Amino acid sequence: MLTVKDLGALNGKKVYVRVDFNVPHKGDVISDDNRIKAAIPTIADLLKKGARVILMSHLGKVDWKKLKKGEKTQEEIDAQMKKNCLHIAVEPLKKHLGAALGHEVKVSFSKERGEELKAAVEALKDGDVLLAQNTRYQPGEEKNDPELAKEWASLVDVFVMDAFGSAHRAHASTYGVPELLKAEGKPVAIGYLVEKEVENLSRCVEVKDTDRPYVAILGGLKVTDKIQVIDTLLKKCDYIIIGGAMSYTFRKVLGADIGDSFLDESALEYAKKCLDEAKGRIILPVDSVITDSFEPVEGRKIMVADGDIPAGFQGVDIGPKSAALFKDVIAKAKMVFWNGPMGVFEQEEFQAGTKAVCEAIRDLNGKAFTVCGGGDSASAVKQFGYKADFSHVSTGGGASLEMIQNDGHLPGIDIIR
Ligand code: AMP
Repeated sequence: MLTVKDLGALNGKKVYVRVDFNVPHKGDVISDDNRIKAAIPTIADLLKKGARVILMSHLGKVDWKKLKKGEKTQEEIDAQMKKNCLHIAVEPLKKHLGAALGHEVKVSFSKERGEELKAAVEALKDGDVLLAQNTRYQPGEEKNDPELAKEWASLVDVFVMDAFGSAHRAHASTYGVPELLKAEGKPVAIGYLVEKEVENLSRCVEVKDTDRPYVAILGGLKVTDKIQVIDTLLKKCDYIIIGGAMSYTFRKVLGADIGDSFLDESALEYAKKCLDEAKGRIILPVDSVITDSFEPVEGRKIMVADGDIPAGFQGVDIGPKSAALFKDVIAKAKMVFWNGPMGVFEQEEFQAGTKAVCEAIRDLNGKAFTVCGGGDSASAVKQFGYKADFSHVSTGGGASLEMIQNDGHLPGIDIIR
Protein backbone atom coordinates (compact mmCIF):
# COMPACT_ATOMS: atom_id res chain seq x y z
CA MET A 1 0.00 0.00 0.00
CA LEU A 2 1.43 3.38 -1.01
CA THR A 3 1.68 5.99 1.72
CA VAL A 4 2.29 9.75 1.49
CA LYS A 5 5.95 8.99 2.26
CA ASP A 6 6.24 7.03 -0.99
CA LEU A 7 5.00 9.88 -3.17
CA GLY A 8 7.97 11.72 -4.67
CA ALA A 9 8.03 15.36 -5.76
CA LEU A 10 4.52 16.58 -6.52
CA ASN A 11 5.19 19.94 -8.20
CA GLY A 12 2.35 20.82 -10.53
CA LYS A 13 0.28 17.86 -9.29
CA LYS A 14 -3.28 18.24 -8.05
CA VAL A 15 -3.79 15.97 -5.06
CA TYR A 16 -7.26 15.06 -3.79
CA VAL A 17 -7.09 14.41 -0.05
CA ARG A 18 -10.13 12.87 1.63
CA VAL A 19 -9.92 14.19 5.20
CA ASP A 20 -12.25 13.86 8.16
CA PHE A 21 -13.22 17.39 9.18
CA ASN A 22 -16.49 16.18 10.70
CA VAL A 23 -15.89 18.39 13.73
CA PRO A 24 -18.27 19.04 16.63
CA HIS A 25 -19.63 22.56 16.20
CA LYS A 26 -22.42 24.94 17.15
CA GLY A 27 -23.10 27.27 14.24
CA ASP A 28 -19.76 28.74 13.20
CA VAL A 29 -17.98 27.80 16.42
CA ILE A 30 -15.97 24.56 16.44
CA SER A 31 -15.81 23.13 19.96
CA ASP A 32 -12.97 20.70 19.23
CA ASP A 33 -10.72 21.06 16.16
CA ASN A 34 -8.62 17.95 16.86
CA ARG A 35 -9.79 16.31 13.65
CA ILE A 36 -8.40 19.23 11.66
CA LYS A 37 -5.13 19.08 13.59
CA ALA A 38 -4.90 15.32 13.00
CA ALA A 39 -4.90 15.84 9.22
CA ILE A 40 -2.09 18.44 9.27
CA PRO A 41 0.95 16.07 9.02
CA THR A 42 -0.34 14.65 5.73
CA ILE A 43 -1.37 18.01 4.23
CA ALA A 44 1.86 19.71 5.34
CA ASP A 45 3.98 16.93 3.83
CA LEU A 46 2.11 17.13 0.52
CA LEU A 47 2.63 20.90 0.43
CA LYS A 48 6.35 20.42 1.15
CA LYS A 49 6.46 18.09 -1.85
CA GLY A 50 5.08 20.95 -3.97
CA ALA A 51 1.51 19.67 -4.39
CA ARG A 52 -1.68 21.65 -5.01
CA VAL A 53 -3.96 20.19 -2.38
CA ILE A 54 -7.74 19.78 -2.72
CA LEU A 55 -9.39 18.77 0.55
CA MET A 56 -12.72 16.97 0.63
CA SER A 57 -14.70 16.07 3.75
CA HIS A 58 -18.21 15.56 5.00
CA LEU A 59 -19.64 17.43 7.99
CA GLY A 60 -22.69 16.10 9.82
CA LYS A 61 -25.44 14.52 7.79
CA VAL A 62 -28.00 15.45 5.21
CA ASP A 63 -31.14 13.29 5.25
CA TRP A 64 -31.52 12.84 1.50
CA LYS A 65 -33.33 9.52 1.98
CA LYS A 66 -35.86 11.13 4.32
CA LEU A 67 -36.47 13.89 1.77
CA LYS A 68 -37.11 11.26 -0.89
CA LYS A 69 -39.52 9.37 1.35
CA GLY A 70 -41.33 12.60 2.26
CA GLU A 71 -40.31 12.32 5.93
CA LYS A 72 -38.44 15.64 5.66
CA THR A 73 -39.22 18.79 3.71
CA GLN A 74 -36.84 20.64 1.39
CA GLU A 75 -36.74 23.47 3.96
CA GLU A 76 -35.53 21.04 6.65
CA ILE A 77 -32.85 19.72 4.31
CA ASP A 78 -31.77 23.29 3.44
CA ALA A 79 -31.50 24.04 7.18
CA GLN A 80 -29.32 20.91 7.71
CA MET A 81 -27.02 22.00 4.88
CA LYS A 82 -26.78 25.53 6.21
CA LYS A 83 -25.87 24.15 9.63
CA ASN A 84 -23.12 21.96 8.19
CA CYS A 85 -21.19 24.44 6.06
CA LEU A 86 -17.57 23.32 5.92
CA HIS A 87 -16.23 26.87 5.57
CA ILE A 88 -16.00 26.89 9.39
CA ALA A 89 -12.84 24.78 9.01
CA VAL A 90 -10.92 27.34 6.91
CA GLU A 91 -9.50 29.48 9.73
CA PRO A 92 -8.39 26.60 12.03
CA LEU A 93 -6.89 24.90 8.97
CA LYS A 94 -4.88 28.02 8.11
CA LYS A 95 -3.75 28.37 11.72
CA HIS A 96 -2.55 24.76 12.12
CA LEU A 97 -0.92 24.61 8.68
CA GLY A 98 0.88 27.89 9.33
CA ALA A 99 2.18 26.53 12.64
CA ALA A 100 3.32 23.24 11.07
CA LEU A 101 5.07 24.80 8.08
CA GLY A 102 6.30 28.02 9.64
CA HIS A 103 4.71 30.16 6.93
CA GLU A 104 1.23 31.21 5.88
CA VAL A 105 -0.60 28.94 3.44
CA LYS A 106 -3.12 30.18 0.89
CA VAL A 107 -6.36 28.35 1.69
CA SER A 108 -9.34 29.00 -0.59
CA PHE A 109 -12.85 27.63 -0.34
CA SER A 110 -15.28 26.59 -3.06
CA LYS A 111 -18.47 24.69 -3.75
CA GLU A 112 -18.16 20.91 -3.72
CA ARG A 113 -19.05 20.42 -7.38
CA GLY A 114 -19.40 22.15 -10.75
CA GLU A 115 -17.73 25.03 -12.59
CA GLU A 116 -16.84 26.91 -9.39
CA LEU A 117 -14.88 23.92 -8.08
CA LYS A 118 -13.19 23.36 -11.45
CA ALA A 119 -12.12 27.01 -11.71
CA ALA A 120 -10.86 27.00 -8.10
CA VAL A 121 -8.78 23.86 -8.77
CA GLU A 122 -7.35 25.41 -11.94
CA ALA A 123 -6.42 28.58 -10.04
CA LEU A 124 -4.29 26.66 -7.51
CA LYS A 125 -0.53 27.15 -7.51
CA ASP A 126 2.02 24.75 -6.03
CA GLY A 127 1.77 24.88 -2.24
CA ASP A 128 -1.84 26.17 -2.21
CA VAL A 129 -4.81 24.49 -0.53
CA LEU A 130 -8.43 24.40 -1.60
CA LEU A 131 -11.09 23.21 0.83
CA ALA A 132 -14.30 22.18 -0.92
CA GLN A 133 -17.77 22.36 0.59
CA ASN A 134 -19.29 19.39 2.48
CA THR A 135 -19.27 16.29 0.21
CA ARG A 136 -22.66 15.31 1.62
CA TYR A 137 -24.26 18.37 0.03
CA GLN A 138 -24.34 16.00 -2.96
CA PRO A 139 -26.98 13.24 -2.70
CA GLY A 140 -24.72 11.08 -4.91
CA GLU A 141 -21.90 11.05 -2.34
CA GLU A 142 -23.34 8.36 -0.10
CA LYS A 143 -24.63 6.35 -3.08
CA ASN A 144 -21.16 6.34 -4.64
CA ASP A 145 -22.71 7.90 -7.75
CA PRO A 146 -20.40 7.16 -10.71
CA GLU A 147 -20.99 10.57 -12.34
CA LEU A 148 -20.02 12.42 -9.18
CA ALA A 149 -16.92 10.26 -8.67
CA LYS A 150 -15.98 10.81 -12.33
CA GLU A 151 -16.28 14.58 -11.98
CA TRP A 152 -14.11 14.65 -8.86
CA ALA A 153 -11.54 12.22 -10.28
CA SER A 154 -11.26 14.23 -13.52
CA LEU A 155 -9.96 17.23 -11.56
CA VAL A 156 -6.88 15.59 -10.00
CA ASP A 157 -3.71 13.52 -10.54
CA VAL A 158 -3.27 11.80 -7.17
CA PHE A 159 -5.59 10.55 -4.38
CA VAL A 160 -4.72 10.38 -0.68
CA MET A 161 -7.02 8.77 1.88
CA ASP A 162 -6.63 10.27 5.34
CA ALA A 163 -10.20 10.05 6.65
CA PHE A 164 -10.04 6.96 8.84
CA GLY A 165 -13.43 7.76 10.42
CA SER A 166 -15.03 7.44 6.94
CA ALA A 167 -13.03 4.48 5.65
CA HIS A 168 -15.81 2.00 6.44
CA ARG A 169 -18.04 3.73 3.94
CA ALA A 170 -17.79 3.11 0.20
CA HIS A 171 -18.91 6.60 -0.82
CA ALA A 172 -17.98 8.56 -3.96
CA SER A 173 -15.32 10.57 -2.11
CA THR A 174 -13.83 7.59 -0.25
CA TYR A 175 -14.17 4.81 -2.82
CA GLY A 176 -15.43 5.95 -6.24
CA VAL A 177 -12.66 8.50 -6.79
CA PRO A 178 -9.68 6.25 -5.87
CA GLU A 179 -11.24 3.39 -7.83
CA LEU A 180 -11.34 5.51 -11.00
CA LEU A 181 -7.87 7.01 -10.53
CA LYS A 182 -6.37 3.60 -9.85
CA ALA A 183 -7.93 2.27 -13.06
CA GLU A 184 -6.22 5.15 -14.90
CA GLY A 185 -2.87 4.17 -13.38
CA LYS A 186 -2.67 7.27 -11.20
CA PRO A 187 -1.15 7.07 -7.70
CA VAL A 188 -3.50 6.40 -4.78
CA ALA A 189 -2.09 6.38 -1.24
CA ILE A 190 -2.98 6.52 2.43
CA GLY A 191 -2.08 9.48 4.64
CA TYR A 192 -0.21 9.45 7.96
CA LEU A 193 -3.35 9.33 10.10
CA VAL A 194 -4.75 6.31 8.28
CA GLU A 195 -1.34 4.63 8.27
CA LYS A 196 -1.14 4.87 12.06
CA GLU A 197 -4.70 3.56 12.49
CA VAL A 198 -4.07 0.60 10.18
CA GLU A 199 -0.81 -0.29 11.92
CA ASN A 200 -2.33 -0.24 15.40
CA LEU A 201 -5.69 -1.83 14.67
CA SER A 202 -4.14 -4.56 12.50
CA ARG A 203 -2.25 -5.73 15.56
CA CYS A 204 -5.63 -6.31 17.28
CA VAL A 205 -6.71 -8.67 14.50
CA GLU A 206 -3.45 -10.45 13.73
CA VAL A 207 -2.83 -11.65 17.26
CA LYS A 208 0.66 -12.92 18.14
CA ASP A 209 1.35 -15.31 21.03
CA THR A 210 3.31 -12.57 22.77
CA ASP A 211 0.12 -10.44 22.81
CA ARG A 212 -1.69 -12.92 25.05
CA PRO A 213 -3.66 -12.76 27.28
CA TYR A 214 -5.65 -10.58 24.85
CA VAL A 215 -8.55 -8.87 26.63
CA ALA A 216 -11.41 -7.08 24.87
CA ILE A 217 -13.61 -4.68 26.82
CA LEU A 218 -17.00 -3.91 25.34
CA GLY A 219 -19.67 -1.57 26.62
CA GLY A 220 -22.27 0.85 25.37
CA LEU A 221 -25.90 0.43 24.64
CA LYS A 222 -26.99 -2.32 22.30
CA VAL A 223 -25.79 -5.88 21.86
CA THR A 224 -27.33 -5.92 18.36
CA ASP A 225 -24.94 -3.17 17.20
CA LYS A 226 -21.94 -5.23 18.26
CA ILE A 227 -22.89 -8.79 17.31
CA GLN A 228 -20.31 -9.08 14.54
CA VAL A 229 -17.53 -7.64 16.62
CA ILE A 230 -18.35 -9.96 19.53
CA ASP A 231 -18.25 -12.93 17.13
CA THR A 232 -14.80 -11.94 15.88
CA LEU A 233 -13.41 -11.09 19.31
CA LEU A 234 -14.65 -14.38 20.76
CA LYS A 235 -12.43 -16.14 18.23
CA LYS A 236 -9.40 -13.95 18.89
CA CYS A 237 -9.48 -12.95 22.56
CA ASP A 238 -8.73 -14.81 25.74
CA TYR A 239 -11.31 -12.79 27.70
CA ILE A 240 -14.14 -10.43 26.81
CA ILE A 241 -15.24 -8.07 29.54
CA ILE A 242 -18.77 -6.77 28.94
CA GLY A 243 -20.06 -3.71 30.79
CA GLY A 244 -22.46 -0.88 29.99
CA ALA A 245 -26.14 -1.34 29.19
CA MET A 246 -25.13 -4.31 27.00
CA SER A 247 -24.27 -6.38 30.04
CA TYR A 248 -27.87 -6.55 31.28
CA THR A 249 -28.97 -8.59 28.28
CA PHE A 250 -26.26 -11.13 29.14
CA ARG A 251 -27.14 -11.09 32.84
CA LYS A 252 -30.79 -11.65 32.02
CA VAL A 253 -29.81 -14.81 30.12
CA LEU A 254 -28.09 -16.03 33.29
CA GLY A 255 -31.35 -15.58 35.18
CA ALA A 256 -30.62 -12.30 36.99
CA ASP A 257 -33.36 -9.75 37.74
CA ILE A 258 -32.37 -6.61 35.88
CA GLY A 259 -35.24 -4.35 36.99
CA ASP A 260 -35.86 -1.60 34.44
CA SER A 261 -32.34 -1.74 32.99
CA PHE A 262 -31.92 -1.50 29.24
CA LEU A 263 -32.71 -4.88 27.68
CA ASP A 264 -31.91 -5.72 24.08
CA GLU A 265 -34.76 -8.23 23.72
CA SER A 266 -33.89 -9.24 20.15
CA ALA A 267 -30.35 -10.20 21.21
CA LEU A 268 -31.26 -12.57 24.08
CA GLU A 269 -30.79 -15.71 22.03
CA TYR A 270 -27.54 -14.42 20.59
CA ALA A 271 -26.25 -13.56 24.08
CA LYS A 272 -27.04 -17.11 25.23
CA LYS A 273 -25.14 -18.57 22.28
CA CYS A 274 -22.12 -16.39 23.10
CA LEU A 275 -22.10 -17.38 26.75
CA ASP A 276 -22.31 -21.07 25.79
CA GLU A 277 -19.48 -20.74 23.29
CA ALA A 278 -17.28 -18.59 25.51
CA LYS A 279 -17.07 -21.21 28.28
CA GLY A 280 -16.27 -18.71 31.01
CA ARG A 281 -14.24 -16.31 28.86
CA ILE A 282 -16.96 -13.62 28.99
CA ILE A 283 -16.62 -11.60 32.20
CA LEU A 284 -19.79 -9.81 33.32
CA PRO A 285 -20.43 -7.26 36.08
CA VAL A 286 -21.37 -8.67 39.48
CA ASP A 287 -22.85 -5.45 40.86
CA SER A 288 -24.33 -2.22 39.46
CA VAL A 289 -24.87 1.42 40.26
CA ILE A 290 -28.64 1.78 40.03
CA THR A 291 -31.07 4.70 39.95
CA ASP A 292 -34.81 5.25 39.92
CA SER A 293 -34.45 8.10 37.42
CA PHE A 294 -32.27 8.28 34.35
CA GLU A 295 -32.92 12.03 34.22
CA PRO A 296 -30.78 14.00 36.69
CA VAL A 297 -33.73 15.21 38.76
CA GLU A 298 -33.27 16.38 42.34
CA GLY A 299 -33.82 13.71 44.97
CA ARG A 300 -33.42 10.73 42.63
CA LYS A 301 -32.19 7.63 44.37
CA ILE A 302 -28.75 6.29 43.45
CA MET A 303 -27.32 3.17 45.10
CA VAL A 304 -25.29 0.04 44.50
CA ALA A 305 -27.04 -3.29 43.91
CA ASP A 306 -25.22 -6.58 44.42
CA GLY A 307 -26.52 -8.97 41.79
CA ASP A 308 -30.26 -8.52 41.21
CA ILE A 309 -31.78 -5.10 40.49
CA PRO A 310 -35.18 -4.31 42.02
CA ALA A 311 -38.15 -3.21 39.87
CA GLY A 312 -38.35 0.56 39.46
CA PHE A 313 -34.54 0.82 39.22
CA GLN A 314 -32.14 0.57 36.31
CA GLY A 315 -28.43 -0.19 36.14
CA VAL A 316 -26.48 2.80 34.87
CA ASP A 317 -22.88 1.86 35.69
CA ILE A 318 -20.87 -1.12 36.89
CA GLY A 319 -20.48 -1.27 40.67
CA PRO A 320 -17.25 -1.25 42.73
CA LYS A 321 -16.93 -5.06 42.92
CA SER A 322 -17.22 -5.29 39.13
CA ALA A 323 -14.66 -2.52 38.72
CA ALA A 324 -12.23 -4.49 40.93
CA LEU A 325 -12.96 -7.72 39.03
CA PHE A 326 -12.42 -6.02 35.65
CA LYS A 327 -9.20 -4.40 36.90
CA ASP A 328 -7.84 -7.82 37.90
CA VAL A 329 -8.48 -9.25 34.45
CA ILE A 330 -7.01 -6.19 32.69
CA ALA A 331 -3.92 -6.28 34.94
CA LYS A 332 -2.91 -9.64 33.40
CA ALA A 333 -3.39 -8.51 29.79
CA LYS A 334 -0.65 -8.17 27.19
CA MET A 335 -3.08 -6.61 24.72
CA VAL A 336 -6.36 -4.74 25.25
CA PHE A 337 -9.00 -3.55 22.80
CA TRP A 338 -11.73 -1.38 24.32
CA ASN A 339 -14.93 -0.09 22.78
CA GLY A 340 -17.92 1.36 24.65
CA PRO A 341 -18.36 3.00 28.06
CA MET A 342 -19.13 0.97 31.20
CA GLY A 343 -21.99 3.27 32.18
CA VAL A 344 -23.78 6.51 31.44
CA PHE A 345 -20.47 8.40 31.58
CA GLU A 346 -22.12 11.61 30.36
CA GLN A 347 -23.47 12.01 33.94
CA GLU A 348 -20.90 12.53 36.69
CA GLU A 349 -22.60 10.14 39.09
CA PHE A 350 -22.14 7.22 36.65
CA GLN A 351 -18.55 7.73 35.50
CA ALA A 352 -16.72 5.55 38.02
CA GLY A 353 -16.89 2.32 35.99
CA THR A 354 -15.52 3.90 32.82
CA LYS A 355 -12.84 5.67 34.88
CA ALA A 356 -11.90 2.34 36.50
CA VAL A 357 -11.15 0.89 33.05
CA CYS A 358 -8.98 3.94 32.28
CA GLU A 359 -7.14 3.46 35.58
CA ALA A 360 -6.57 -0.22 34.84
CA ILE A 361 -4.98 0.71 31.51
CA ARG A 362 -2.83 3.37 33.22
CA ASP A 363 -1.72 0.79 35.81
CA LEU A 364 -0.42 -1.46 33.03
CA ASN A 365 2.30 1.17 32.74
CA GLY A 366 2.90 0.61 29.06
CA LYS A 367 3.58 -3.12 29.64
CA ALA A 368 0.71 -4.08 27.33
CA PHE A 369 -0.45 -2.89 23.92
CA THR A 370 -3.68 -0.98 24.56
CA VAL A 371 -6.14 0.37 22.01
CA CYS A 372 -9.25 2.44 22.57
CA GLY A 373 -11.53 2.04 19.57
CA GLY A 374 -12.90 5.56 19.15
CA GLY A 375 -16.46 6.80 19.62
CA ASP A 376 -17.79 7.36 23.15
CA SER A 377 -14.97 5.50 24.92
CA ALA A 378 -12.39 7.72 23.18
CA SER A 379 -14.34 10.81 24.28
CA ALA A 380 -14.35 9.47 27.84
CA VAL A 381 -10.60 8.67 27.75
CA LYS A 382 -9.85 12.23 26.61
CA GLN A 383 -12.34 13.84 29.00
CA PHE A 384 -10.89 11.97 32.00
CA GLY A 385 -7.28 12.69 30.97
CA TYR A 386 -6.00 9.17 30.19
CA LYS A 387 -5.19 9.48 26.48
CA ALA A 388 -1.43 9.27 27.02
CA ASP A 389 -1.84 5.97 28.90
CA PHE A 390 -3.07 4.18 25.77
CA SER A 391 -0.84 2.86 22.99
CA HIS A 392 -3.46 4.09 20.52
CA VAL A 393 -6.77 5.96 20.69
CA SER A 394 -8.59 5.57 17.39
CA THR A 395 -10.22 8.50 15.60
CA GLY A 396 -12.98 6.33 14.15
CA GLY A 397 -15.63 4.63 16.29
CA GLY A 398 -17.58 2.82 13.55
CA ALA A 399 -14.50 2.36 11.39
CA SER A 400 -12.37 0.75 14.11
CA LEU A 401 -15.16 -1.68 15.05
CA GLU A 402 -15.66 -2.65 11.41
CA MET A 403 -11.95 -3.07 10.93
CA ILE A 404 -11.82 -5.50 13.86
CA GLN A 405 -14.89 -7.44 12.78
CA ASN A 406 -13.76 -7.63 9.13
CA ASP A 407 -10.30 -8.93 10.02
CA GLY A 408 -8.47 -5.74 9.12
CA HIS A 409 -10.48 -4.83 6.03
CA LEU A 410 -12.33 -1.59 5.26
CA PRO A 411 -13.57 -0.56 1.79
CA GLY A 412 -11.86 2.85 1.85
CA ILE A 413 -8.51 1.21 2.64
CA ASP A 414 -8.85 -1.95 0.58
CA ILE A 415 -9.39 0.17 -2.54
CA ILE A 416 -5.97 1.77 -1.96
CA ARG A 417 -4.39 -1.59 -1.17
P1 AMP B 1 -22.67 2.87 22.13
O1 AMP B 1 -22.92 3.94 21.11
O2 AMP B 1 -23.38 1.60 21.86
O3 AMP B 1 -21.19 2.67 22.42
O4 AMP B 1 -23.33 3.40 23.48
C1 AMP B 1 -22.86 4.50 24.19
C2 AMP B 1 -23.94 4.99 25.08
O5 AMP B 1 -24.33 3.95 25.96
C3 AMP B 1 -23.52 6.16 25.95
O6 AMP B 1 -24.27 7.28 25.59
C4 AMP B 1 -23.84 5.71 27.36
O7 AMP B 1 -24.46 6.71 28.14
C5 AMP B 1 -24.80 4.56 27.15
N1 AMP B 1 -24.80 3.61 28.26
C6 AMP B 1 -23.76 2.95 28.77
N2 AMP B 1 -24.14 2.20 29.81
C7 AMP B 1 -25.45 2.39 29.98
C8 AMP B 1 -26.43 1.89 30.89
N3 AMP B 1 -26.09 1.03 31.85
N4 AMP B 1 -27.71 2.29 30.73
C9 AMP B 1 -28.04 3.15 29.75
N5 AMP B 1 -27.17 3.66 28.88
C10 AMP B 1 -25.89 3.29 28.98
